[in-house]
Amino acid sequence: MMNILVINCGSSSLKYQLIDMDEEKVLAKGLSERIGIEGSRIKHTTAGKEEVVIEKPMSDHKEVLEIVLKTLVDPTHGAIKSMDEINAVGHRVVHGGEKFANSIKIDDEVMDALNECIDLAPLHNPPNIMGIEACKELMPDTPMVAVFDTAFHQTMPKSNFIYPLPYELYEKYGIRKYGFHGTSHKYVSSKAAEMLNKDIKDLNIVTCHLGNGASICAVEKGKSIDTSMGFTPLAGLAMGTRSGDIDPAIIPFLVEKENLSMEEVNNLLNKESGVLGISGVSSDFRDIEEAAEEGNERAKLALDVFVNKVKKYIGAYTVLMGEVDVIVFTAGIGENSVEIREMVCEGLENLGIELDKEKNNVRGKEALVNKDTSKVKVLVIPTNEELMIAKDTQELA
Ligand code: ADP
Repeated sequence: MMNILVINCGSSSLKYQLIDMDEEKVLAKGLSERIGIEGSRIKHTTAGKEEVVIEKPMSDHKEVLEIVLKTLVDPTHGAIKSMDEINAVGHRVVHGGEKFANSIKIDDEVMDALNECIDLAPLHNPPNIMGIEACKELMPDTPMVAVFDTAFHQTMPKSNFIYPLPYELYEKYGIRKYGFHGTSHKYVSSKAAEMLNKDIKDLNIVTCHLGNGASICAVEKGKSIDTSMGFTPLAGLAMGTRSGDIDPAIIPFLVEKENLSMEEVNNLLNKESGVLGISGVSSDFRDIEEAAEEGNERAKLALDVFVNKVKKYIGAYTVLMGEVDVIVFTAGIGENSVEIREMVCEGLENLGIELDKEKNNVRGKEALVNKDTSKVKVLVIPTNEELMIAKDTQELA
């Protein structure tokens, strides 16, 4: 029996899943929020048992992990008898820079390299590293693997990842496109090939990961050749609260006219923009769709802006790959929003994309949603980054 613990640390949160790899079954999972601030808690669910909520002060990720591990082996709420039943731990790491094109077993050298990547992801990598260090202390003999959001995109050709900036800035700081959501793009593209009973090497796929954060990837013969996020996850599509691509000259303009600091501009672009910024309603697509239906013009505009950008990327990546065989929709919006999928595919018949409105009436499950006559297959595939991380961890550990 092989059980893998998958860990995903944010700055004040920690998500985890314990997966039985023989059955690919989630034995237990949970989410800890508000770590280090008032009201910290863990919501834990073991398969077949009721959810437990543990509310108590937890000052850091190590304290949380200690409680998580205790809960996992707890006779009443737990899923396993002892910690020995955790065979390996897989950690999600946001940024692997140019060093990591694949998942890797963690040792001291890897830790050094991870620390070197902090500059590239000052918000994301430090909590990831904290999670790894906490695990190392609590379970020193259990093998651990790092799985990177950027790794899948390391196959992008230079012509697609270099920005038109002085080349020295790439050499000096590593300023280039990295792309994110790689684990998800990789998972859904290989799942698409499996669903269609094809070798992924015979397919060109556009994967649309549309969640709170959103990105699109051109997967040519199984390899990422371009993606919409960039040096940071702020680039590309309009998102829940992130602007995506804008004219960069808007930034100095704002600094001057609104008298904003760089930090304030950064906050505006990351937290107050996207569909929230346009609609003024919400960053949540359910709220925006509802408001649009009730006639709110700015909510409609936000949906149109979002959809137009998705369409443009589908067009761009179709051209980039010469042709496209499959379009995949995944993540919160891609999996659940019948309306957004319909809006995206509308008018793309000339590209060979014909959505079947009836088949498209699905939420949250794998489905083929194109018409039989459609040249391009359109798939809905729920993403499963945890399973992907667990698979890599099993292989490497
Ligand atoms: P993240 O993991 O980036 O936080 P998710 O992939 O969970 O995001 O996606 C969250 C988004 O999915 C939210 O904007 C939410 O509104 C949207 N979403 C979830 N269910 C639906 C639905 N039934 N219809 C429309 N949007 C939905």
